[in-house]
Amino acid sequence: MQPCPECKSDNIFQYKKAFELPGAGGELLPKLGRNIFSLAKILPVVCGDCGFVRLFAAQGARDKLEASKAWERV
Ligand SMILES: [Zn+2]
Repeated sequence: MQPCPECKSDNIFQYKKAFELPGAGGELLPKLGRNIFSLAKILPVVCGDCGFVRLFAAQGARDKLEASKAWERV
């Protein structure tokens, strides 16, 4: 998480709990939710100095990548 990739600061904050984040006009991470009724959970990290925001998929969403037919390794 540290340092910030933008300004190299170590003043980094991570939200304590992953949460569901709807994307604009669709899901941010389609088909990685716990079930068809839930969205994938994400964990935001923000730099306290420059404000650069990064979004990380929570572990539960990442665990589904390998078996998902909707996602492919690049
Ligand atoms: Zn920064």
